[in-house]
Amino acid sequence: MRKIIVQKFGGTSVADTDKIKNVAKAVIRERDLGHDVVVVVSAMGHTTDYLVKMAKEISDNPSSREMDMLLSTGEGVSIALLAMALQAQGCPAVSMNAIQVGIMTEKVHSKARIINIKTDKIKSHLEKGEVVVVAGFQGVTDDLEITTLGRGGSDTSAVALAGALDAERCDIYTDVEGVYTTDPRIVPHASRLDIISYEEMLELARVGANVLHPRAVETAKQYNVPIRVRSTFKLDNLGTLIVGVDEMELHKPVTGVASDLSQLRVVVCDVKDNPGTAAVLFNGLAKENISVDMIIQSYARKALNTNDIAFTIDKGDKEKTLEIMEKVKEELEFSNVFVDDKIAKISIVGAGMIDRPGIAAKMFKTLADMGINIKMISTSEIKISCIVAEDQAKKAVEGLHKVFHLDSDEVAEVKGDLPDLD
Ligand code: ADP
Ligand code: ASP
Ligand code: MG
Repeated sequence: MRKIIVQKFGGTSVADTDKIKNVAKAVIRERDLGHDVVVVVSAMGHTTDYLVKMAKEISDNPSSREMDMLLSTGEGVSIALLAMALQAQGCPAVSMNAIQVGIMTEKVHSKARIINIKTDKIKSHLEKGEVVVVAGFQGVTDDLEITTLGRGGSDTSAVALAGALDAERCDIYTDVEGVYTTDPRIVPHASRLDIISYEEMLELARVGANVLHPRAVETAKQYNVPIRVRSTFKLDNLGTLIVGVDEMELHKPVTGVASDLSQLRVVVCDVKDNPGTAAVLFNGLAKENISVDMIIQSYARKALNTNDIAFTIDKGDKEKTLEIMEKVKEELEFSNVFVDDKIAKISIVGAGMIDRPGIAAKMFKTLADMGINIKMISTSEIKISCIVAEDQAKKAVEGLHKVFHLDSDEVAEVKGDLPDLD
């Protein structure tokens, strides 16, 4: 049997019909190398943003079921057009949506997890010599409800398909030439990495490197699927290979820097310093499916028997969180809640920082020397994150990128700037 390669093309790669014809060439090229090819595509260009915008014009609070019905249509357009482009170039191809394939997810709208992917139909098309073009981002539940996997989720569709089909590799084609030491749109002198471990890529993706969806990296690690992130516009370049950490040699303590502007900070003041306080507060959030990222509880003020608790959440969860705080106010007797939504989370990531003291100190000193105040800090084995003011994010990323010796002499090429929505 021929080896299977899964290729995924993101929104900028299929932004118009000429680009779709170009993608068809990239698919045929891979097939001509002797592989069976399954292609996953995203919605064209800014389609998903445009659909979100229309929904917001209709309703302040559209139901998540109907949002999934709406957003899943974007990928439906791309698969049919790409299958047509392949056929027009003489390559047998068939498009399939998540229902036709059987990309089964849990019943959670807007951020569903894939439970299982049926491979029989895809395999029978491959056996007939066809390229199978699958809609990314969407899934289906047992009772035929349409779900989506969260913004950027086509990466996860592709990697999960590669895992289910026991594919040789999953190639993620995008508008940059691979994974860089930071977003090349923020730091043009970012360096492209030839190789990065799943562990580091997962941390980077979680802290804002949106070149890959975090769950795609998790899935790749789980099924041991090698991923290549590469450019749609420079097919000869091999981009960045993502593999297990044991296959790598570690040189620098820091592999990458990322920023995330999608969170806000909530500070709950003068909470009673009693057992159970944090449990009540965070249970309330958990019940509403609100994920909390950083949490800091200040040193207790003994005389008053109180302290403050600060935490960060996604900006989209602000209203729900404030409603929950209002509900628990009486029970917890806190004095006040305030929200700081002009924050950025800046993170450094590197497996090389394990057992190497002084990396955190160097990060804090670099920020201090630039006059940047740190509002919150959190660490994991291979990551240090600081919350700073949003308008200092770019400066912080540039400074840290330089101090940890990540700058390259060359300027990274970023393709695919799309026109604004209006
Ligand atoms: P696609 O539409 O192909 O899925 P995305 O916009 O989701 O593309 O991801 C590609 C973008 O990710 C790049 O254009 C770049 O601005 C951004 N990015 C953020 N961090 C990084 C990083 N460390 N390396 C490469 N790209 C990054
Ligand atoms: N079209 C979806 C989005 O814009 C999924 C994806 O592109 O990965 O988020
Ligand atoms: Mg993406």
